[in-house]
Formats: sequence, C-alpha cells, structure tokens
Amino acid sequence: MTIFDHDDTFAPANPTAAPGRQEYRPALDRAHDLALEWLRSVPTRRVAPAATADELEARFRGPLPEGPTDATDVVDELAAMCEPGLMNMPSGRFFGWVIGGTLPAALAADWLVSAWDQNAAMRFATPATAAVEGIAGRWMLELLGLPSTAAVGFTTGGTMANFVGLAAGRTAVLEAAGWDLHENGLSGSPRITVLVGEESHVSVELALRYLGLGRPRTVASDDQGRMDPTALGTALATIDGPVIVGLQAGNLHSGAFDPMRECVRLAHARGAWVHVDGAFGLWAAASPLYREALDGLDGADSWATDAHKTLNVPYDCGVAIVAHPAVLRSVFGAHTNYIIQSGAAPADPFEKVPEMSRRAREVPVWAALRALGRSGAVALVEGLAANARALADGLATLPGAEVVNDVVFTQVCLSFGSDERTRRVTQRVMTDGTVWMSGSRWHERDVLRISVSNWSTDADDVAASIAAVARAITAVDDDS
Ligand SMILES: *Cc1c(COP(=O)(O)O)cnc(C)c1O
Repeated sequence: MTIFDHDDTFAPANPTAAPGRQEYRPALDRAHDLALEWLRSVPTRRVAPAATADELEARFRGPLPEGPTDATDVVDELAAMCEPGLMNMPSGRFFGWVIGGTLPAALAADWLVSAWDQNAAMRFATPATAAVEGIAGRWMLELLGLPSTAAVGFTTGGTMANFVGLAAGRTAVLEAAGWDLHENGLSGSPRITVLVGEESHVSVELALRYLGLGRPRTVASDDQGRMDPTALGTALATIDGPVIVGLQAGNLHSGAFDPMRECVRLAHARGAWVHVDGAFGLWAAASPLYREALDGLDGADSWATDAHKTLNVPYDCGVAIVAHPAVLRSVFGAHTNYIIQSGAAPADPFEKVPEMSRRAREVPVWAALRALGRSGAVALVEGLAANARALADGLATLPGAEVVNDVVFTQVCLSFGSDERTRRVTQRVMTDGTVWMSGSRWHERDVLRISVSNWSTDADDVAASIAAVARAITAVDDDS
C-alpha cells in the first residue's frame, strides 16, 4: 500500500513500468547508494576532513562545462569530488560547536521533502506540509511544556529563530509605548533597551543588528554564565522606555540555564518582552531531570531553538515559538489587518517566519518526533547529557586535566594546565582524527570544548574519545 492509493487516477498499477518521471530513477538510485556508502563509513572514518576548501577548489576549478552531463554522472562526480573534503559531522565522535546528527526517520523524511518539492508557505496551496507543521509544532510545545496556544514557525536555524522572537518583541514593546512600528518604522521611535547576559550567544547580537536595535546591554552573569537576577533587577530599575530581555537556556561553554522564573518575573514586572535563546538547551525541558533547572521557562514571551541540534534532524531547521500569535502574525504576515483577524483562520506558515518561499523543513521534525515518541525524545536528551557526564568523568582522570565547568547538560570545557598546554593538546586532538573537539576561550582561559549533540554517540565513542585525548596529552608532553 502506498499513501497515494486512495486516488488511483494518480497511482499507476505498476510504477516502474509507468513512463512519468522515470528519468529520476537512475540518479536517485545512485544518490541512494552513495548516501548509504557514506553512512556506512561514518562510524569508522576519520572525523576531520582530508582536504581543505582551497585545495578542493584548486583541484576542481574550471569553466562551466559547455554542454549537459547525465544526471547520474553528475551525482557520481559530485560524490567523488566532495569525498576528501567532507567533515564527519554525523560521527558519534564529533563534539565540535553544537552539531547534531540525523535520525534515520528524519533523513528519510528530508528526502521526501525534496522529492515533493512543496513551497511550504500557504495552508491552502500545500495543505499536507501545513498540517504537518501544525502537528509538529503542537508536539514540540507539549514536549517542552510551553503554552499550547503559542505559534510555532520554522526557520533556517537558531539565529533566525532568535530574529523572529526578538522581532515580535520589538513590535510588542513599541506598541505598548504607543508606537506603531509597522506604520512608522524605527526612525523616531522610542529607544528600545535590550538586556542580555554577559555570555549571551553571538547570534542574539546578530539578530538585534538585523533588527536595527544595536548592541544589547549586558547584565552580569555568575561563574557558569547564568544571568544574575539581582543585576537584572538593578539594570531594569535604571532604564526608561521599552525593554526586551534576552535569556539563555543552554550556555555554549557550561550548558547552564539562566534562572528563568526570577528573571521572567523581574522583566514582566517592568513590562519587558522576554525572549529565550534555547538553541540546544530548550530541549532539556523535555526531561524531568532538567525541568527544574528550567523552572519558569513557560512564562517567557518567545523562544528560539534548533531542531538540527539536539533533536537531530538534518540541516537546516530552527524553530521560533511565540506566546502571542497575533503579534507574530502582525510582524511577518503580508496583510496589515491580521491582528484584528487573529483567532479566525490559523496563520499560514509564511506568516510566522521571514521566508516566504521555503522547503518544508517541519516534515523531518515531525518524523523525528514520531519516531522517538515522548519517551524516545526524553531518552535522546538524557543520553546526550549522560555522555557529556561520562566524557567529563573520564577526561578528568587524565594527567593535568581539569573540567572547568559544572557539567549540568551537554557541554564540557577542559583545561590541561597552562593555556599553552591546553592549546597544544587541542591541536593534537584535532590532527589525530579520531574525534573532533574544538578550542575556545572561556573566563580568561583557553579550553578544549566538547558538545555532545549526536544521538549515535555510544560508550565505545566515549572510550575512544578519552583515549584520543590521552594520546594527545602524551604526545604534547613528549614533545616538550
Ligand atoms: C547554535 C546556536 C545559535 C545559533 O543557531 P544557528 O542554528 O547556528 O543559527 C544560537 N544560540 C546558541 C546558544 C547556539 O548554540
């Protein structure tokens, strides 16, 4: 049975014999084989790429070929060309930045998204993907304990999800100050003050720049990078005019969560809009183990997260959640009267995000959640954090190693004594090729930074990763 057989006008009895669109088959078959070959190589192949972008460009540079090339040959050529330059990001031993892997159901769903080729903008034009968007959004709200009435939009990533939440906040706080932003623009408007923690993610600053709000004011944070509510209260007391407060669920270095309930209370008492950047950390709210650390999260006005990180769907997929659907629709809807109409027809997908035309990136989110179920999603989140704990515990026993953060979620930072030794160990780890962990600087110290974000990381990966760092330490110490 296929999902199409309710209407046999469009379901040929023998699809392989049908003439329609069979020109796709050879290239898709080849891509399928090559994809499986790549995925088969993932557990054992070197994590770091073998060639640089400059090398690859130099090797394959040339004028645009004059004539056409067969699609299957194009797929072959592409795979051969890219092979040496592919970073093994799907590896269970990839711990750089915050990069999730891809769950099987999500990857398969993503292939269908490309084949279906829906421009997922409007409910009436692409009803299937719009329905999936509604369902996936509601499942996320349920899982994360966020208000069931919130609007959920799908963006390219966390940066644009931050942009969406902050854009809604900008409109709302100006409206409260008696300024119609959409009519008058920003010129001459009351000045909005944006307050963020000292360790707010750079993407929040970027989003504020796109929104014409300039650089935010920072509020002091504690030793784990959590916003200090007392400092927030003091800052709020000194500000006149509209305010947006940007909180963080998941610090890039420590994994820590800002104290939500107290910060939201203070901000709301001052009439501020509260936006939460939870690119990877928002997913912690799915687990009873972490819900307490995020207590009060549901009181915010908007939230940004990535499904391409913790949920492990393919790139790209950010999710913007806004507690005030009418405000969101007034910002991104193409009609000025949507605030009045809110409560009638549901918003179209394009009325919740900056893109009009876009792929149906909510489909892999639906597939990931459908495959996991609630218990699977909780196990995914808790498994990532448990592996971070195991890595921290194992690495802490190595000579001169020190875990410098409280490991409260999926992030671990290590020092190996002096900055010099830490940098050299980091360099060694990266050239070893067994794992990928990148260097950073946190609280005036060089650190080796680990983010556990891949569903497939297992005990063997953890052990191999600890062994790789041990080798790097020995090599660095032997050299000096
Ligand atoms: C990754 C990340 C972002 C940005 O998300 P993109 O998907 O890369 O645009 C924002 N905030 C935090 C905390 C992140 O980890």
